[in-house]
Amino acid sequence: MLKFLNQVTDYAKETFQSAKYIGQGLGVTFDHMRRRPITVQYPYEKLIPSERFRGRIHFEFDKCISCEVCVRVCPINLPVVDWDYNKETKKKQLKHYSIDFGVCIFCGNCVEYCPTNCLSMTEEYELAAYDRHELNYDSVALGRLPYKVTNDPMVTPLREFAYLPAGEIDPHDLPETAVRPGLRPESIIEQKSKGNQE
Ligand code: SF4
Ligand code: SF4
Repeated sequence: MLKFLNQVTDYAKETFQSAKYIGQGLGVTFDHMRRRPITVQYPYEKLIPSERFRGRIHFEFDKCISCEVCVRVCPINLPVVDWDYNKETKKKQLKHYSIDFGVCIFCGNCVEYCPTNCLSMTEEYELAAYDRHELNYDSVALGRLPYKVTNDPMVTPLREFAYLPAGEIDPHDLPETAVRPGLRPESIIEQKSKGNQE
């Protein structure tokens, strides 16, 4: 009799647990049913990358002094700096520069440490290619001005989460006047410089 009662108790406990887990699962489902779809209709719509997005690197050939700091700080020694020593000027002369974006991890070290600021991270993220060798950008490809979502007349730019007002998750149909939470980096710098002057 006692064994039977124990079995009934265990069964009741397991039934209760199962009902609880099913309820939790359905709770998540019902919560999502109340939300609006936030699908971005790529490639007709594209999200504006956030300010510090680390996309394709831009390179300015004329500013480079062939110091190879970018190679030394790169975790995989990736940038290829090809230079000759110019005996007349007694300076290094850059011949060729390349970065293979099929290998680059977009850590930004090279950009951070370049003494002449000839490298910069852009907001370009569409680097897909059929052949991985096409991702090895030479100095001409690296010098190309970056693609900007906001400059493309064929694309509707949508604000990313970082730009949306607090609590808003849908970037569609937001009025122009809707303000994002927090300050933009330039406003923070402005505030700090004002604070230092006072
Ligand atoms: S660190 Fe800058 S200046 Fe030096 S080789 Fe690299 S890109 Fe050129
Ligand atoms: S972003 Fe990082 S991995 Fe890519 S080239 Fe620069 S230092 Fe190397």
